[in-house]
Amino acid sequence: MKVSVERLIQGLLGALPLLSWGQRADAASKAADPRWALSEAEWKKRLSPQAYKVLRQEGTEPPFSSALNKEKRQGRFLCAGCRLPLFSSSAKFDSGTGWPSFWQPLSDAVATKVDFKLIVPRTEYHCRRCGGHQGHVFKDGPRPTGLRYCNNGVALVFEPAAQG
Ligand SMILES: [Zn+2]
Repeated sequence: MKVSVERLIQGLLGALPLLSWGQRADAASKAADPRWALSEAEWKKRLSPQAYKVLRQEGTEPPFSSALNKEKRQGRFLCAGCRLPLFSSSAKFDSGTGWPSFWQPLSDAVATKVDFKLIVPRTEYHCRRCGGHQGHVFKDGPRPTGLRYCNNGVALVFEPAAQG
């Protein structure tokens, strides 16, 4: 009995580093910056329910639901998860889709992966720093890139350019 308890404790202690490593690795699987490898509970605390659904669960907001569709001021669009600047207003265009659309992200701002949620492969993109899902990129955008970054407005925060 004594031996088996010791073994049990040893086994538990041995498993602890593995467990904590596993949790970190899981949370960080998409966050390039380890400072943004937060647990889902931490993200839930930081984000509105709508933003959490999009950023952390790859949800899609209803079309025409975001005020950012009509945002035409000069400025930058930041990740709602970690405030990394993702898009400039100079790359925004009216796609008519009901989602804020851009023909190009800022450099080193987003990373992509292919998803098969609608059976047809789509290219998903997310914030490079915190891994928060932003939207999908399609090849029917305007010049000069021909790309359309179809973004969830709830995943962005607009920062107007400083006046003067
Ligand atoms: Zn982010």
